[in-house]
Amino acid sequence: MSEVKSATDEDVMNNAKQYITKSESLAIIAHARDYAAAHHAGQKRKSGEPYMVHLTNVAYILTTLHVGPRTIAAGYLHDVIEDTGVTKEELAAEFDPEIAELVEAVTKVGTLKYKGKNDPEYQAENHRKIFIAMAHDVRVILIKLADRLHNMRTLKYQPAEAQQRISAETLDVYAPIAHRLGISSIKNELEDLAFYYLDREEYYRIAHLVETKKTERDASIQKMISEISEMLTEHNIQFRIFGRSKHLYSIYHKMVVRHKRFDEILDLLAIRIVTKSELNCYEILGYIHAKYKPIPGRLKDYIAVPKQNMYQSLHTTIIGDEGKIFEVQIRTEEMDEIAERGVAAHWRYKEGTKYDPRTEQKEIEDKLSWFRDFARNSVEDENQTASEYMATLQKDVFDAEVFVMTPKGRVIDLPQGATPIDFAYRIHTDVGHTTVGAIVNDAMVPLNTELHTGDVVQIKTLKGTGPSEDWLKFVKTNQARNKIRAYFAKKETEKRQQLTEQGEKILSDELKKRGFDPKEYMQKKKIEDILSQFSVTTYTDFMYNIATKIIIPVNAVEKLTNQKRPINQEETVEKLLAKEAPKKKVMTKTGIVIPGIETMKITLAQCCHPVYGDEIIGYVTKGAGVKVHRADCPNVKGQDARLINVAWEDEDAERMYDSELIIIAHDRSFLLTDCVTAVSQTRAPMIKVTADVNREKLLSTIRMTIQVKDVDQLTNVMANIRKVESVISCERAAH
Ligand code: MN
Repeated sequence: MSEVKSATDEDVMNNAKQYITKSESLAIIAHARDYAAAHHAGQKRKSGEPYMVHLTNVAYILTTLHVGPRTIAAGYLHDVIEDTGVTKEELAAEFDPEIAELVEAVTKVGTLKYKGKNDPEYQAENHRKIFIAMAHDVRVILIKLADRLHNMRTLKYQPAEAQQRISAETLDVYAPIAHRLGISSIKNELEDLAFYYLDREEYYRIAHLVETKKTERDASIQKMISEISEMLTEHNIQFRIFGRSKHLYSIYHKMVVRHKRFDEILDLLAIRIVTKSELNCYEILGYIHAKYKPIPGRLKDYIAVPKQNMYQSLHTTIIGDEGKIFEVQIRTEEMDEIAERGVAAHWRYKEGTKYDPRTEQKEIEDKLSWFRDFARNSVEDENQTASEYMATLQKDVFDAEVFVMTPKGRVIDLPQGATPIDFAYRIHTDVGHTTVGAIVNDAMVPLNTELHTGDVVQIKTLKGTGPSEDWLKFVKTNQARNKIRAYFAKKETEKRQQLTEQGEKILSDELKKRGFDPKEYMQKKKIEDILSQFSVTTYTDFMYNIATKIIIPVNAVEKLTNQKRPINQEETVEKLLAKEAPKKKVMTKTGIVIPGIETMKITLAQCCHPVYGDEIIGYVTKGAGVKVHRADCPNVKGQDARLINVAWEDEDAERMYDSELIIIAHDRSFLLTDCVTAVSQTRAPMIKVTADVNREKLLSTIRMTIQVKDVDQLTNVMANIRKVESVISCERAAH
């Protein structure tokens, strides 16, 4: 394990001065340095060194990424909130709000303890935090990476358990993020350090094998470098050329994951040529291919089609003298910097330009399409649970293996087995939802076709269409799956919402029809009071059940209003006033009016014989006007659509109503006579009477139709009958 030299505050300043010249900018860094030193004074790291050493090194690593002065300052200050109790507000006052926010964001990321890849809580929460921080301000992640890198460099002072845990987290979380951001310098070092702690034996085995063949490899590379240099100098091209070594973890990874033999990897001799312009790159490639035999299918043009992490370069594999195989990378200085520092290179601090984090954040998002997609999706989906989010992240971002392209050359990375539907949802949610067809490499394909790296995919959409539930059977990305599910969940919610509103309207109409003021009764609180009587638990369920006819509106009105049925006088008056007609007293035959309607044939139902004062309801017949029933008449139950609100007019002493009574009694002599006498005592005229005797049970059933003035008189009659000896019951008929 070769150790990286610890940096000093002087190193930080020297590095910073290479690209920061303004004295006020350098002063910010110095101020942060002194502030950190003062606040962490006396604190020590596990190594026994002053805590400040860590902060200095984090700041130093940040300068190698060419970040701006505030980011370097935040590097110095990144632990003051957590470890010294300084508040964000104090930092904002001492420095500026931007620095304070950076430090606070760094503090917030990754305070959870990593318990391993299989700890879903950690995974989900911490990744989410990291990505949200990144989506907000990528500088937070740069500081976090620098912090982690220095912690990894000094991991030997930690106890064994912490070494394992921190290394695992580095490999699972931080290295992939560094890779995704294209910061290969940090990614490679993090991987090798983690590899060392996680599998020391394997680490040393590979290190040893690399070492033993080194002299031989170096000689071959040197020879090739001289040959190429000579050739390029002849053609007057400016260039730098050097051999490069793969880092140990990448060798290990290729062996384990790609099942390559050790010598297959090690025998690959790698050379890099860095030149001035893009044109030079292609020129150099041409000269090299003219002189050496290229291996077919190995030419990769990442200049024309950059990788997702912005990486650009030409890659080719050639056969040199003695049959040795060389991997050659050709790129410009700028591309080389991006290859090493990724986002940080693109985003490098440019003095004198107006610095705006938001503009740069947007620029990064434009460059890193995966990042933009992901950031957008992670912000969009507030309802996504932490573990869903994690699954999406793991599957869609870290495990991406298939690289396909839009017709315009934008590269989309997808997991193995992904389909055009996954692709479509990656482009945009709306594209996914309205997909009707897919063209892959100029041919129309089924939507469940598996995509392969290099495929050019074009999606056909049709406005107004929606996803199919069948898609769930074959999509591979969680993003697509979640979007499709969300679509159907939303549809369901909308349908429910619609039915709820429909239910509200039905109930409101019903109330109106019965002369109640909907405003008074259509209150959530009042509705909630009667929910239990209908075996539902929520207001929404109640309305939904009304709309779907599970709850009968008339029943709901009864419960809601406690059967009180006032005459809808207001409405009647309104009608009359509207017609500017004087209110005339029109005595109808039945004594019943329909609020708001003046000319309508009204008759009393013969089944239940309502009498004045009864709770009544009108039934709109087909062609025979309105038949008025008692509200509880079984014949109108469930006929809501035809029911209409009716009301009694003022009482008229002359008017009489038929009422049919059913009397059940133990049979005896003079029973019928006694019953008739009881009725006549109340002065109610009797129209009809019949009697039946059940010989077996000795029960007598008497049916009589009498005339009464109102419900009070009827009640009186019935009470009188019930007093007759051997009478069991006396009820009004309803048949
Ligand atoms: Mn730290």
